[in-house]
This record gives sequence, C-alpha cells and structure tokens, in this order.
Amino acid sequence: MSGAQPGETQCFAGYCPVCEKQTTFVLRNPNIYRSTQCQNCQCGPRQRALFCTLNRFFPTWRTMAVHESSPGWDKVSQRLVAECNNYTASQWEPGVPGGTLVTNTKLPCKKYYVQNLEAQTFDDNIFDLVITQDVFEHVFSPDRAIAEIARTLKPGGGYIMSVPVVRRAQSSRRRARLTKEGSIENILPPEFHGNPVNGEGAIVTIDWGFDIGAYLAAASGMHFLMLEIDDLARGIRDECNLTLVGFKRPLPDLS
Ligand SMILES: [Zn+2]
Repeated sequence: MSGAQPGETQCFAGYCPVCEKQTTFVLRNPNIYRSTQCQNCQCGPRQRALFCTLNRFFPTWRTMAVHESSPGWDKVSQRLVAECNNYTASQWEPGVPGGTLVTNTKLPCKKYYVQNLEAQTFDDNIFDLVITQDVFEHVFSPDRAIAEIARTLKPGGGYIMSVPVVRRAQSSRRRARLTKEGSIENILPPEFHGNPVNGEGAIVTIDWGFDIGAYLAAASGMHFLMLEIDDLARGIRDECNLTLVGFKRPLPDLS
C-alpha cells in the first residue's frame, strides 16, 4: 500500500488473474478492500477470487458445458462468454415464461434464457459447471435454488459461487421473504445491491454466515468447499465475500 493520507486514493501494484496482466489496484473507497478495482479491467476482488478458483478447480472450463446465472458486464462473464465453447446464460425476469430466449446485445452474453433459478426449465444432468456471482444473497428459496443447480449438473459436475458472508461465524438470517401472495415481506430493513439487467436494485434476502456450506449441502446432496483467498499480490482481499465450490459426486466410501 502507498502511505495514504486522508482523502487520498490508495493504490498498489499486482497481477490481476482476471485480465492476466500486471496492473495497478485502486481502492475506490479508501480502507475498504472490497472496493479494490483493477485499473485495467475494472474487476473487483470477488471476481479475481472466483477466477482463480475456476482455474484451480476446473482448469478445462473452456471445454465444459457452463451455465452462468445472472451474468453482468464484468470481465469474468466476458471471458466466459468469449472462451467457453458451450456457454449458457440465464436471467430472471418476472412475468416472462421460463425458457424464453432473450436477445440483449448490451450484455456480454448477447442472449440468455429467462430462468427462475428456483424452478428452472433446463433438463436434468446437462451442465458440467454452474457459476453464480453474488446471487445467493438475493434468492428467496436458496434451498430450492441449490437443489435445482444440483439437478441440472451432470454427475461429477461442479458449481462455483461468490457470495457475501456478512454474518461470519454467526448463524445465517433471513432479511426478506415472499408471502403466499407473492409480495415481499421485509423482516429486517431492506438492503439492495445493483442488478445488471434492469438497473433497479435487487433486494438482499439472506445475510449468510459460515453455515452456508452446510445449508447448501443439506438442501442439494452436494458437498462444498469454502475458500477465503487473501492475496494482495493478486489484488484479492474482501471484508465479507467468499468463494464456494460445490461438487455433485458421492462422498468417498472409506470403509
Ligand atoms: Zn484486471
């Protein structure tokens, strides 16, 4: 870190795993590492952590059948679209039937299927890898969403997500839920994050804790690794975001 004075932008040099270049990382918000942006590709630390995890656990991702739910404009999604031989994007759009193919040339993916992550129209066992970036803090039924992801994965398939784990060692808690009538009921004061498709904020439904891995495993039968990468040489430090890797495969028989 440079010796920053109050009001001064902090920056440091390092290697960006997303654009694969030596770069300068800039803290857009001084002293908050999750604001650190690569000056070259504008990615943030959670994207760099996700891309490192992708290369480490699924080095042949370019040849895999990949489903990315809710991709944005970021460099990770751009690279997946450009380099995957078999890439499928999906977005949720209320009121549009699941399975509808939408063309949106503004997005890097250019086209996507409308899908409710909790009730997908995709067939069973069709994807090698599913990727979500900061989606699971916005789903109303994370148990159904992860069960659907497991259903659509081939046996032996994998899943990578980035997700804020703001509760750390405390239990996960719900912020908002859907009523039977389909309206949003706020249990805690509403919080919103940016939404890549409609410009409106996406409401935060769950504040996750470290129990997210066990929760997702119980709901899906998959098993999960949780990775907290802290490596300023690659511009990766985040106050709350973790990367989870899920595997759709049986536990080993060690008898
Ligand atoms: Zn970069």
